[in-house]
Amino acid sequence: MSTPTLPLWIDNQPCAASSSRTADVYNPATGAVIRKVPLANKTDVDQAVAAAKRAYPGWRDTTPLRRARILTRYRELMEAHKGELVALISEEHGKTRLDAEGSLQRGIEVIEFASGAPHLLKGELAEDVGRGVDCHSILQPVGVCVGIAPFNFPAMVPLWMFPVAIACGNTFILKPSEKVPSTALRMAELFKEAGLPDGVFNVVHGDKEAVDLLLTHPDVGAVSSVGSTPVAKHIYETAARHGKRVQALGGAKNHAVVLPDADLPFAADALIGAGYGSAGERCMAISAVVAVGEAADPLVALLREKAARLKVGPGDRAGIDMGPLITREHRDRVKGCIDTGVAEGAALVLDGRGLQVPGHEHGFFLGPTLFDRVKPDMTIYKDEIFGPVLIVLRVDSLDEAIALINRNPFANGTAIFTRSGAAARRFEHDIEVGMVGVNIPIPVPMAFFSFGGWKGSLFGDLHMHGMEGVQFYTRTKVITTRWPVTEDTTGVSLVMPTHK
Ligand code: NAD
Repeated sequence: MSTPTLPLWIDNQPCAASSSRTADVYNPATGAVIRKVPLANKTDVDQAVAAAKRAYPGWRDTTPLRRARILTRYRELMEAHKGELVALISEEHGKTRLDAEGSLQRGIEVIEFASGAPHLLKGELAEDVGRGVDCHSILQPVGVCVGIAPFNFPAMVPLWMFPVAIACGNTFILKPSEKVPSTALRMAELFKEAGLPDGVFNVVHGDKEAVDLLLTHPDVGAVSSVGSTPVAKHIYETAARHGKRVQALGGAKNHAVVLPDADLPFAADALIGAGYGSAGERCMAISAVVAVGEAADPLVALLREKAARLKVGPGDRAGIDMGPLITREHRDRVKGCIDTGVAEGAALVLDGRGLQVPGHEHGFFLGPTLFDRVKPDMTIYKDEIFGPVLIVLRVDSLDEAIALINRNPFANGTAIFTRSGAAARRFEHDIEVGMVGVNIPIPVPMAFFSFGGWKGSLFGDLHMHGMEGVQFYTRTKVITTRWPVTEDTTGVSLVMPTHK
């Protein structure tokens, strides 16, 4: 049986790509190629942008209330088809179905947030900014917006972007990761079923060629992207040079500080979930534990014991805690990181390299791995590993922990575990990181707050969803109005108007 090739989605229709280049899509639990994905060329990208551009005036002039009603229907359909979407996410990514469901739920909540469009798009008004002069602002859409997504959240990350963009009156082209392309297509079909007009939401598959065509296309107004830091930097610089507004979220190295006064079994459970959930392939995964003082020995013992008990296997099997990595190449790269950690002198407490999953010998599995006594100059500390490898660094004080984290070039998320309000308050205030958890290991903000890191974890000014998302996808227009009556006539004046 031949492997099916997926279509693009343009003008509310599946559409065969003109490009003949394709990539393999794997089931990472079996190692089998299950689909082929087209890698779009200029003809494909031009076709998608033309559809989005054609749809824009009509969608911009659709009232926010009508847009919101379509979003509400879309949310209901996404809920109704959750099982099917979860199965697709888990099949192509490898994460467990329960984990896939959690991430899908967080994405659906962004649709719920965006359904508040009539309220979110209210401007400001001030009466009498001058005598008889009023001023108001309105929020208008940007035009054709593009979203470039990573492999690790096939639904949630695209959902951070397009519901808000579309609620604001923009049209959208999603370029999902070529490693997990199917969920985006199913989400597009459901959006059509919800009543979204043709051309408002389009899906173009591809790699660097398609991305670069989108970044430089004269009819694209804004680009949102999520991916690794080098790619985020490239996207930010290229799109900005071509006059677009850009938000490009990058990679991460998220630290969790554990103080000696913390509830250590509670902290260890939280860190195991945050370190090994989704096989460590989360941008908010905790990958570096910073154990302060005497917390270190008992914490490492607890982490070792709990990590060793995790059940690794295919994500569609009940009772499995952790699935495979996304590709064979990535699994081998992460194995190589473990080799380097050993060679550089870190203490390997738990080694996942030898893991075999019976019946799934060709799957891209790697067992949970734990390093202790890692130093800041080691490669396993400096690089984003993006796999089930948790490292522990030991420091003497909270001051030292804060200084260590603030020196790291990544600044996506961080957490502190303590029973001390004063220590937590100090950490929250002094830490130079975009998202902070206090006894919360993965502090991913809810849809009505904004998501984004600092420093090498975000290029651009505005975070995703929440009110920063609305700001990103709208342009503010300020209108100053006077309705003169005869006695107001002041004659000609060439002086800069002021209100004295
Ligand atoms: P990636 O950077 O390889 O790819 C991201 C997207 O960019 C994909 O759609 C891909 O097709 C495209 N792309 C890849 N190389 C490109 C290039 N040279 N030029 C133009 N486009 C290119 O990332 P990934 O492996 O899919 O995802 C994992 C990375 O994403 C990790 O670094 C992770 O930390 C990061 N991530 C960050 C966040 C966040 O919120 N900051 C969220 C999720 C993932």
